[in-house]
Amino acid sequence: MKQHAENFPAVARDATETVTTATPFVPASPITTIPTFADLPPLPVALLPTPTRQYRQRRKARRATFAAGTPRRMPIPPPVIAGTRVLKWQWNPEAGEIGVRAAFLPGHILPGPKDARIAIEGIAPVIPNVLGDLIATPNTAAFDAIHTFTLVRQVVTMFQHALFPTSVPWQWNGRGNTEPIHLFPRAGDSMNAFYSRKEQALKFYAFTPPGALLDAPPVYTCRSQDIVAHETGHAVLDGLKPNWILTANPPQTGALHESFADLTAIFLTLTQPEQVAAIVTQTKANLHNKLFLADLVEDLGMALGRPTGLRNVENELTLGLVGTEVHDLAQVFTAAIYDILADIVAFELKPNRDPAAAVYSSAEYVCSLLVRAIKAAPDDHATFVDVVNQMLRVVELDEKPVQYRNYIRNRFALRDVVVSPTPLSADHVAGKTLEAKVQDAPEAVQTRYGCCGTLQQPQYSGEDTVAPEIEEFVRGLSGASATAGKRAG
Ligand SMILES: [Zn+2]
Repeated sequence: MKQHAENFPAVARDATETVTTATPFVPASPITTIPTFADLPPLPVALLPTPTRQYRQRRKARRATFAAGTPRRMPIPPPVIAGTRVLKWQWNPEAGEIGVRAAFLPGHILPGPKDARIAIEGIAPVIPNVLGDLIATPNTAAFDAIHTFTLVRQVVTMFQHALFPTSVPWQWNGRGNTEPIHLFPRAGDSMNAFYSRKEQALKFYAFTPPGALLDAPPVYTCRSQDIVAHETGHAVLDGLKPNWILTANPPQTGALHESFADLTAIFLTLTQPEQVAAIVTQTKANLHNKLFLADLVEDLGMALGRPTGLRNVENELTLGLVGTEVHDLAQVFTAAIYDILADIVAFELKPNRDPAAAVYSSAEYVCSLLVRAIKAAPDDHATFVDVVNQMLRVVELDEKPVQYRNYIRNRFALRDVVVSPTPLSADHVAGKTLEAKVQDAPEAVQTRYGCCGTLQQPQYSGEDTVAPEIEEFVRGLSGASATAGKRAG
């Protein structure tokens, strides 16, 4: 192959370049009658095939993009990284509005977009362009599809990284079932967005806010990073703990679901370097300074009538102050986890360390800590204290400094979730399990009126069927025919 290449004369790259003469071809075989390019008389430069200007520009761009600094002949081939560039909507804290951002998704993405775990449905498939990228015009269904796919992909990747090498399954996955989750970014007209286990789907609707002008554009719930991440969080947790979503559990179990969904939105924000940089600047790296959070959170979730993501950490609620409403309970857990993150960030800030790196890696760790603790918690009727004790166990296994255990114990003690057997200023004793302080009342029933569309789905309360009504209808029919028979008789 190499010999063959050397048999061809050099070709001028443009009209100003001189053509160097190649070494004449001397075949080793007796077949000497086949003319070679070297045998031909020299051609005028202008007649030689030359690359167009556009072709040379593209070659130059490709070298700069894919092989910058790479020597021509490497003893080890350069790595080949598959991936797709995408566009998405993203909250811009500086502008105070949602704008368009580019992102890179490693891995193989098929038209749709679709990959091994996620498939867009309900719109014409979006096809990658010639460079393999997914680019569409903003405010189109194709753009919303790329955006929604990107966010769900990023959430799955975040938890997959946290639980590696354990897989993050959807609830219906198992041996022989690798069905992806189906995303409907344009599910229809409604003020709603939810995860549906029954449909194996995440559905995002559009609506016109009450009081808006007649020609006002609809609000697409899929365009909110917080909403998409929150609903995906429900789907991820349903894969890890299928019983937790059912209303037959105590209120705290439902609250763990709602809180996990909100924390998913918070952690997704903290995996985006530019968002982390904005948070560091706004808060001066003091994440306890929640007054600044209002500038950082998007308003789109509020259009649905409920706060999402970071908005839910701005509270001083304790378990003693809330009842059985799942969203209220969830705010207690979400705020405690956020405060633990803020404590860990303060601990990890060092003079010789970039503060954004400290926030980024602390958030990555707390995300991993939470999801591992949840995975290790009971499969049914799990309560806050179950997860807290698992968190204490995980940080100990990870050989984190004792301060990590102290932060977990203290923040949940201040929220009336646990009782600390020692003063909060003393170190937490390794291996010590904490007792619950405020618990759900025996036989307490969840109320979910403050929750998102997912937890209000009848399918999780066993009421998602019209079968009883149909049975009653059929009974009525037979009753009617029996009566009719009597009359006839
Ligand atoms: Zn929710």
